[in-house]
Amino acid sequence: MIDAQRLSAALTELEDRYLWDAGASLELSIAYEEQALELGDERLVTRARLCQANMLNRKGEVAAAARQIWKIHKWATDHDDTVVQARTHLVWANIHRHLGDAAQSLEHSVLAVELLDDNATPHMQVWHRAKLADALGRSGSMEAARLRYAQAEELTIEFGLPNLLLGMLNNYAYTEYAYGENARAQAVAQRLQEVAERHDFELDPATLDTISAIEIENGDYLSAEQTLREAVRRHATGGYEDADALAEYMLSLARAQRFLRATDRAQVSLDASRTLCVERGLGDVLVRVHQEQSELHAARGEFAEAFAVHKVFFAAHNALHSQQREAQARTRQAMFETTEARQEAARFREQARRDPLTGLRNRRYLDEQLPDLIEAGGSLTVAIVDLDHFKRINDQLSHDVGDQVLVLVAKLLETELAAVCADGFVARMGGEEFLAVLPGLGAGEATGQLDGVRRAISGYDWAELTQGLPVTVSIGVADLGDVLMPTQANLLSSADRNLYVAKHAGRDQVVSGPQRDACDRSYRDSVSAA
Ligand code: GH3
Ligand code: MG
Ligand code: MG
Repeated sequence: MIDAQRLSAALTELEDRYLWDAGASLELSIAYEEQALELGDERLVTRARLCQANMLNRKGEVAAAARQIWKIHKWATDHDDTVVQARTHLVWANIHRHLGDAAQSLEHSVLAVELLDDNATPHMQVWHRAKLADALGRSGSMEAARLRYAQAEELTIEFGLPNLLLGMLNNYAYTEYAYGENARAQAVAQRLQEVAERHDFELDPATLDTISAIEIENGDYLSAEQTLREAVRRHATGGYEDADALAEYMLSLARAQRFLRATDRAQVSLDASRTLCVERGLGDVLVRVHQEQSELHAARGEFAEAFAVHKVFFAAHNALHSQQREAQARTRQAMFETTEARQEAARFREQARRDPLTGLRNRRYLDEQLPDLIEAGGSLTVAIVDLDHFKRINDQLSHDVGDQVLVLVAKLLETELAAVCADGFVARMGGEEFLAVLPGLGAGEATGQLDGVRRAISGYDWAELTQGLPVTVSIGVADLGDVLMPTQANLLSSADRNLYVAKHAGRDQVVSGPQRDACDRSYRDSVSAA
């Protein structure tokens, strides 16, 4: 039987996917639901059901998806589960979009971003913002949309998610195009193609559809028809299922063919699109199918038919428009929330560079800062601080006491070092190992200060917490003068070798200076070899 952790990871993988084969993913999420039920884990059951709702919507079974979503939402709010709530609102936004209700779609997109917190995955941080940008753009708030796209783009770089960058740039280009900003659309599409080339990604059908729309706008109908045929071909190869996707491509193809005066081909494409719209209840695409039909009649000189269809289009268009006006009213609130979300994005970035247990900087922050400090030249000392016999504390007391010791040691390190070196910082490298970074100090000067830090830790009144077990640290020091080439790796391994020496000389001490050959061993190697 699968364990809860593995199932949760498998679900995250499905939830954080950007392109789906809806049919296969639906099967998968049904299997996950069964496993979750066997485990008796309500949260996993709910997540599996949300995946199902998402896939049903993408397969065009919008009503079935809508029925599920209410129950999922109720569970998530009852349990104050912000991650499931945020994901639920995004699926809900998509359902409303497929139904042609722009106002509701925008409202849910706003909530999908508002509910993001530290538990949200990087995928969610990016994609929920990009989808809010889409919704803002669709309801005519292009400025607000651009801000959101910029945030999402920044975060894709931040988190190293080029596939999402591609996805959001496609949406961005399409939104600009739909807003009538063809030059901007083209510029975004250009960037998108560069990103695809750089990462050797094949363009997905949705992206080809966007590119064809821009080609049509530029009067390049032949290229547009070819691009769209390629989109339909790639769509047919599977893995790209989305309820309205094929209907959109066939409609675009009909337009390109009408411009080429191939009205028979255009009618075939348009009929295919209409059939899909009716089958799948795609309100917003159907409105544009009516419009295209009217244009097609006119292109064939059938003006009476053109007028009749135009009236149908006009009625459907008006209904859709009144919903969109309502959405614009709600946009004011979304605009306000944009500033808030920007601050929130900054807070998230900051938090991604902190260790959650101790609140210290983490390895990621260190990897960003240390190379710059090394490159800047000048004096620089680093010190690896490792707790002595920390296993004993965990084993003889408890892991929880171990955690409390780590938090206290982190506090002591931070306050003691702040007094010694104002520009310095401490990072938790992992486990019970910390790194102190002291810019402006050479090892000679720093070693004395670090010995004060060591004494502050051993001299702290631990008795109550550790029931008499001592808490001490060993410290390995290195400065730029100790290494041949000034790199982060060299500096850290030099400090690590001194840590090894300190441990073997009896612990609770500071060791600095270049090593003699006999001591040329790394503490970490010795630990991993043991
Ligand atoms: P030495 O003096 O040689 O450093 O001995 P040690 O016992 O401190 O060293 P070792 O590296 O063998 O063990 C470190 C232990 O720290 C093992 C691991 O279980 C524990 N540990 C790592 N991270 C955490 C944590 O976040 N919380 C707690 N409580 N323990 C942790
Ligand atoms: Mg240790
Ligand atoms: Mg260690």
